[in-house]
Amino acid sequence: MSSNGGQSYPYTSETEADRSAAIAALVKTRDGLAATLAAETTPLDANERWWVWKCPTTGCPGLLHVAGYAAEKHAVYVVCDGTCGKTFLR
Ligand SMILES: [Zn+2]
Repeated sequence: MSSNGGQSYPYTSETEADRSAAIAALVKTRDGLAATLAAETTPLDANERWWVWKCPTTGCPGLLHVAGYAAEKHAVYVVCDGTCGKTFLR
């Protein structure tokens, strides 16, 4: 896993169990997220731990959890668990 500098240094990491639970909870509560992830991501490799980033949205206290690999870019696709609800590439 790599970061591309500046704002995108990882904040912490989480276990695969925590990551998948976080994404499952987000998919359950956000309309359309499951479809978005199905369309825009490919499945992750097996890893024991994943990076977590702080959400860059001003005023949003959320953390970004890895949801999959971005389908068309060499990046991971992350979902904010905070108030902005945005997705990003990392
Ligand atoms: Zn956010």
